[in-house]
Amino acid sequence: MTTVAFIGLGIMGGPMAANLVAAGFDVIGYNRTPAKTERLVERGGRGADGVAEAVRDADVVATMLPDSPDVRAVLTEVFAHARPGTLVIDFSTIRPDVAAELAAEGAERGFRVLDAPVSGGEQGAIDGTLSIAVGGADRDFADAVPVFEVVGATMVHVGPSGAGQTVKAANQLIVAGNLQLLAEAIVFLEAHGVDTNAALQVLRAGMAGSVVLERKGSSMVARDFEPGFRVELHDKDMGIVTGAAREAGVVIPLGAAVAQLLAALKAQGDGGLDHSALYALVSRLSGRDA
Ligand code: NAP
Repeated sequence: MTTVAFIGLGIMGGPMAANLVAAGFDVIGYNRTPAKTERLVERGGRGADGVAEAVRDADVVATMLPDSPDVRAVLTEVFAHARPGTLVIDFSTIRPDVAAELAAEGAERGFRVLDAPVSGGEQGAIDGTLSIAVGGADRDFADAVPVFEVVGATMVHVGPSGAGQTVKAANQLIVAGNLQLLAEAIVFLEAHGVDTNAALQVLRAGMAGSVVLERKGSSMVARDFEPGFRVELHDKDMGIVTGAAREAGVVIPLGAAVAQLLAALKAQGDGGLDHSALYALVSRLSGRDA
């Protein structure tokens, strides 16, 4: 049986680890706040009190953490305590250059590191239908496929270390732009007194239809901003994509505008809400009740 150490059992990592347990993997979970580790234990996993204990006997180490500094801190511990040769899969969304650096550092110490950021949201994590963009070596990708097949429905090896994160940055650019235009459309429809649910029904079926509209349209109309995907995480991702675009010498004018709007939401104290709260920002900017 393959032993997977899973570090970071939050909105995404919790259900991903639980799905690995259900699929028959021996999962040792660790989370900074112990209550989330307990939830995994209730579902048949094992719990550890720290990173070192979780990874010591693991065949695979998986991480699902918020940002680049968190992944750097945890992988430093992993490289110190796991067995050389261990496959390390980072599912978090972090900077592509940091992912490439960590893979090189790991390789120097005998570890096989993949960047494997995911898309599909909390529901995709619960359903095991995430879309996974993977950067790293061919053989390591092949060895990780049994894990990817449990947590995801689509897994594509997109290039060397860091390439998965570059693809994920593009994903976040597209999602942010979609969300912002959906928010503007709903505020616009409401201002004209149109039945928004009826409007969304017809928009869904035409060229304006999208996964963003499917997943977030009705929650915007209902003003339900329970996360989901927090504004502060999407703000982090827009920092990643604007930085990476500048490095490549390309411009992303609409992306830069949405990045500012997400930053404004966070600055106004809404960083903990779902990113669909862009609707509330557009409402406020329009002088309407959010
Ligand atoms: P989350 O609910 O905040 O989970 C992150 C987990 O990491 C938490 O359980 C947290 O522990 C733990 N953690 C944070 N900092 C840590 C540190 N320095 N050391 C050890 N553990 C630490 O976030 P999430 O929504 O699952 O997102 C995780 C990653 O997936 C992010 O990179 C995000 O951008 C990406 N992502 C999220 C979604 C989504 O829809 N939510 C979709 C795709 C990708 P505590 O319990 O103590 O806070």
